[in-house]
Amino acid sequence: MTMSQSRPQNSSRSYRRVAAAVDAVCAVAADFDATTLDEVVAAVSAERMRDIEIADADLGPGVCGQRRFYPDRDVIVLATALPSREHTLAHELGHIVFEHQGAPAVEVTLEASDDLIAYMLSQRAHQQIVDDGADEMAEWEAETFAAMLMTRLRVFNSRGAGVSALRFDEALG
Ligand SMILES: [Zn+2]
Repeated sequence: MTMSQSRPQNSSRSYRRVAAAVDAVCAVAADFDATTLDEVVAAVSAERMRDIEIADADLGPGVCGQRRFYPDRDVIVLATALPSREHTLAHELGHIVFEHQGAPAVEVTLEASDDLIAYMLSQRAHQQIVDDGADEMAEWEAETFAAMLMTRLRVFNSRGAGVSALRFDEALG
């Protein structure tokens, strides 16, 4: 596991905790002039000096997104032709921000065949479903984070104000 940074074990649902995370992400977004969700992901990536790649793949039935952790980067995989791409991306970003443990990274050798990779991806999709069900708290945090962040970005983009609007909300919080 590369996400070695510890965080306090908090077993109760806390809107304040999630709101604080959204505030922090919005502050970073403002620093990087990020106004779209993809730009926000890139900003968070730059801030933590650890790449977050966004990829598309055919995931298993009912699986919208996945996280894959590698030694040097995190990958958010979104199901192809997802109707709610933005929300799912925000949800997966939430998991990363909160450092929720995902399925352990599979070491894919460079010579791996396409069939082997496809097999691993399907296994991973299955694993992720199990993890989602197993950690209700992590799912709640990621969903709440996604809802709050999307609302914040929507308000910001409809205002047409400067990026500082993101900070303005932060100051109110
Ligand atoms: Zn999730």
